[in-house]
Amino acid sequence: MRLLSVSRVSQSRTRSSFLTIRAQTSRTFSQLHSNPERSSFGIAFDIDGVILRGRTPIGGSPQALKRLYSECGTMKIPFLFLTNGGGVPESKRAIELSELLDVNILPLQHLSFMSLMQVVQGHYPFKTLVAGYENKLIVAIGKGEPAEVMSDYGFKKVLSMDEYASYFDNIDPLAQYKIWEAKTTFREDRSLLPRYDVLSERVQAAFIVSDPVDWSRDIQVLCDILTSGGLPGQANRHQPPLYFAADDLEYQAAFPSMRLGMGAFRIALEAIFSEIHPLPLEYTSYGKPNSFVFKNAEAILKQLQQLSCDEHDVLHNGDAVNHSFRTLYMIGDNPSVDIKGAQQARSPWLSILTRTGVFRGEINDPEFPADLVVDDVEEAVDYIFRRESTLGNQ
Ligand SMILES: [Mg+2]
Repeated sequence: MRLLSVSRVSQSRTRSSFLTIRAQTSRTFSQLHSNPERSSFGIAFDIDGVILRGRTPIGGSPQALKRLYSECGTMKIPFLFLTNGGGVPESKRAIELSELLDVNILPLQHLSFMSLMQVVQGHYPFKTLVAGYENKLIVAIGKGEPAEVMSDYGFKKVLSMDEYASYFDNIDPLAQYKIWEAKTTFREDRSLLPRYDVLSERVQAAFIVSDPVDWSRDIQVLCDILTSGGLPGQANRHQPPLYFAADDLEYQAAFPSMRLGMGAFRIALEAIFSEIHPLPLEYTSYGKPNSFVFKNAEAILKQLQQLSCDEHDVLHNGDAVNHSFRTLYMIGDNPSVDIKGAQQARSPWLSILTRTGVFRGEINDPEFPADLVVDDVEEAVDYIFRRESTLGNQ
């Protein structure tokens, strides 16, 4: 059982209880700003259904985020975005978020002794697999720029599904009925053309980087790859490894009701694969709610904590002193992803559930109850500042 030590909270409340904290007009930001000590708390924000709906900011997110910066514009409270979404490199997403939210989100920066970043997407853990597949042929599936994402991580022999499928005549029997055309701009840059024979080389692994766009083509070609041991049209062989960036069944996009996510695609692929192959589909899913995602977020927040405390010392002296957080807040809209993940990660994580996305309930989620339920992200940040002020932090 996890408790919040604020005066409004019953000391005996259970996880299924909830708080309704009304926004107060008094702000504690000035208190935080006046103290130069490093922050003993950090914040992880989910994006879809918390910060944005589609590309539109929601829940007072720009105002809430601005409170995490000092008056001169430097980051005062360490925070990052922890999303299961993706499809573009983290640095590119940071620039896009900066524009949409009118705050300065750090793109990936490599310093001599650390890497700083503020956007961690579902596919970020794929980076840990580079050593095993660096020079092996892999296929990257999903919206956006899945091959660029993987190249950015260090994979050297990667083709997007659009690119890969284009080598095989008639591999998609429905292609002639599709009114759109897969992007083929990669062909114009001859330096990007593979220097190997795609038609005879086996795919060593498939990565679902982001939400697949053309489900019928992608399921068809994935089944071809996975049943044939990596070479469509060949006889049955052992299935190559398959990796998913996340397993969200649904998520909040611009449409009023939930949209099917990567988990829904996984269920569809798995159901079909099991009908045409004697063995069940083998796969690995990353993203929230896996505990390692929260461990990694904590490590990144510690680096940002050093930056937010004394940027000059960190940048010039590299004194990467390791200070633990008293509290890390996960603000999300999806109980089975954001809240479950924070619960599994345990201390110092506390979970805050907003009503701006997947969760629409009045009280709390019965299966994965959050430590706090609020209307929106602005109310969540306001609560955090008041709680931290009560605790005497900063
Ligand atoms: Mg969400």
